[in-house]
Amino acid sequence: MQALHIPQPLPRGPWWLQALPASIAAGFPSPAEDHQVERIDLMQQLVKHPQATFYIRVRGESMRDVGILDGSVVLVDRAIAPADGQIVLAVVDGDFTCKTLRLQGERMRLQAAHPDYPDIVPKDGQSVEIWGVVEPDMPPEPASRRRREDFEESRVYEYPQHLRTAIEDAPTGPGVYIFHGQEGDLPLYIGKSINIRARLLSHLRTPDEARMLRQTQRISHIRTAGEIGALLLEAQMIKAQHPLFNQKLRRNKQLCSLRLSGGVPEVVHSKDIDFATQADLYGLFASRHAALDSLRSLADQHKLCYGPLGLEKLPPGKACFRAAIRQCAGVCRGDETPQAHQQRLFSSLLALRVECWPYGGAVGLVERDAELTQIHVVNHWCYLGSATTAEQARQLTTVAAGFDADGYKILCRPVLTQSVEILVL
Ligand SMILES: [Zn+2]
Repeated sequence: MQALHIPQPLPRGPWWLQALPASIAAGFPSPAEDHQVERIDLMQQLVKHPQATFYIRVRGESMRDVGILDGSVVLVDRAIAPADGQIVLAVVDGDFTCKTLRLQGERMRLQAAHPDYPDIVPKDGQSVEIWGVVEPDMPPEPASRRRREDFEESRVYEYPQHLRTAIEDAPTGPGVYIFHGQEGDLPLYIGKSINIRARLLSHLRTPDEARMLRQTQRISHIRTAGEIGALLLEAQMIKAQHPLFNQKLRRNKQLCSLRLSGGVPEVVHSKDIDFATQADLYGLFASRHAALDSLRSLADQHKLCYGPLGLEKLPPGKACFRAAIRQCAGVCRGDETPQAHQQRLFSSLLALRVECWPYGGAVGLVERDAELTQIHVVNHWCYLGSATTAEQARQLTTVAAGFDADGYKILCRPVLTQSVEILVL
């Protein structure tokens, strides 16, 4: 990991610079303008929140490709809310590191900008805090280097010649598309869209995508009759083929949920109980850690006490620390009844409730468009495949193997609201 010094507050400004008149883009200033030298406050130009801005010297090369080199000094603004794609200063297990923040749903990743440095994906029990956002306006590298990178970027933001025919020939209907790599035709990326061609054309937005396109040998696609079919097929293919550039990391083995047991929430695992039929489960989480995190944030939101939730052991007769700072409504010191506390816990969990599979067995979800009719066969939220006739669909109704979190997320709304035609098989 990159070692950094400790962030330092900025000295009180202003920092005056003498600015040349703006009119002299080229050539020499005319003698008549010599006396009109303007002063610019560098602090005001570069720093939006002087009180919340720190500077720090970066050590290591892990952000080389975005121009932050070993020894660069960067400005860090703590008043900006961190967002996906921003370069941030993070504290990982007590060490400062500078990385690009990547947020996908509930997942966070700290991305390096150098092929030799791995990204940091927070693991169970690891403490990761985003300390501040690196100020983008301060070019930490020499100007000559920046110009060269701008030039190279314009070159990569262009669809490679050998892929253009595939894109022009792509259908405008829904489906799944696959970028195949050079080695063994393996999928680099699998995506879905309700308009395959439009989506392929939009794959030029970020440097990451440009990098992927340069490694792509060919593009193929599979049409589906609608959006549900595209979502189900995409999830199934990503799980089976693990494409290099799909960062979703859908692993179902570790799936957890919260269950109330005697009024106390406990973490349960999908390998132990059937999530599709077990009533009173709340939330689907990738790990025990994520489940407890979510419970903790529910508690913070609704001023619940960590003690009765099993998140903290309270000595008998003692109130919790959060009650003293009014983060807990005080069930632990008699400020509210256990019943009132329990009721608030229950109603806050309701929004997360996992719906039971509402049918006795498998059903088919029917989707149609001008060219295609598909019956997507689903049992206990688990997608089993698609067919074109009811006869074929009945042959797919094997027993679901384990709980399918992707299937649940995709199908919950259309099945429960019956917004799609459903065929009981
Ligand atoms: Zn308390």
